[in-house]
Amino acid sequence: MTSKSNKNTLLVSTGRKKAYTHGVVNPVVQRASTIVFDSVAELKQAAKTRGDKTLFYGRRGTTTHFALQEAITELEGGEGCALYPCGAAAISSALLAFVKAGDHILMVDNAYEPTRDFCDKILAGFGVETTYYPPTIGAGIKTFIKENTKVLFLESPGSITMEVQDVPAMVAVANEQGVMTMLDNTYGNGLHYRPLEHGVDISIQAATKYIVGHSDVMMGVAVANKKYWPTLREQSYLLGQCTSADDAYLALRGLRTMAVRLNQHEKAAIEVAKWLESHPLVDHIRHPAFDSCPGHEFFKRDFDGSNGLFSFVMKEGNQQAIDAFLDGLDHFKMGFSWGGFESLVTANLTMKGLRSQTGWELGPVIRLHIGLEDVDDLITDLNQALELYKQHLN
Ligand SMILES: *Cc1c(COP(=O)(O)O)cnc(C)c1O
Repeated sequence: MTSKSNKNTLLVSTGRKKAYTHGVVNPVVQRASTIVFDSVAELKQAAKTRGDKTLFYGRRGTTTHFALQEAITELEGGEGCALYPCGAAAISSALLAFVKAGDHILMVDNAYEPTRDFCDKILAGFGVETTYYPPTIGAGIKTFIKENTKVLFLESPGSITMEVQDVPAMVAVANEQGVMTMLDNTYGNGLHYRPLEHGVDISIQAATKYIVGHSDVMMGVAVANKKYWPTLREQSYLLGQCTSADDAYLALRGLRTMAVRLNQHEKAAIEVAKWLESHPLVDHIRHPAFDSCPGHEFFKRDFDGSNGLFSFVMKEGNQQAIDAFLDGLDHFKMGFSWGGFESLVTANLTMKGLRSQTGWELGPVIRLHIGLEDVDDLITDLNQALELYKQHLN
């Protein structure tokens, strides 16, 4: 990608070399475990590159995977992209590739829940210590860095409560202290936020969300800069991480329309959030583009857009009210994912178990993913379900 303005062109043209497409529009789905070589010379050549954009062994990918890897690498602006069977595998593998017993990592306190669990339940058992830091700490992260701190892990905006981090300030501190940085960029998707341009070493996404975009494939991606790509690539391979050619094909197909989908998700979500903002039961909106969202100033400075995901905080609530609201919704389905074409909802009464370093003194948090339905239908749906919420308050 050469400039910020040609993203649509990039999404259409990337990963479409003739070697991948064989002359049709889309890459051929090349399913393989075994690659066969015609001569010793050819085998030796393949062994030399060990599957870096050339066929070597199925686990190293085929031309379908190379096409997707090239596209995501260009989108995120890195040196190379590793593919994983889901976003959680991308996060765990990126961490495992760079930490060893005795190391310490810094994890943002509003991290995606399975990321937290991986640190607490697996890394801890391997002798890797995790400290959770407040998402809004900024340059204050310096006081959390120890002699053995290896990785600073960011997620911005963070899961559920959506705080946006001051990434450049934190990366500057990490660089100065010799700590590598990784960022869960599932929200930023590479079109709206490109962490490597802000000095982050590895950008990770659950491609399951907006890249795939149709709620039908699990996929993770991690893009590294020049310094960390060789290690990320090799360690991910040794961890046995690979994806099917069919899934790689579907992820690439999703990517082609990501920009237009995001535009619609963004527009609709802002409309719904504005309506919610004036609802008497709602305390405030946790949408990065709204100034009620912590870190909104960093969002304005660093991001090129928002999407369909946001939360809102209720003034008061209890479990019956939440359950009545959820059961009362029609277009919003209950589900933990997001980034597909459909609207989704989740709700948390207390945020218990989702953060440890920072408390949660505010009301219940409801998270919405605004899909591609008509906005009027979504607002009508929320309106009647909030009426049920109100009826169950006491
Ligand atoms: C969904 C999600 C993941 C995990 O992705 P899977 O493909 O479901 O494993 C990681 N990070 C964030 C922020 C997510 O929303």
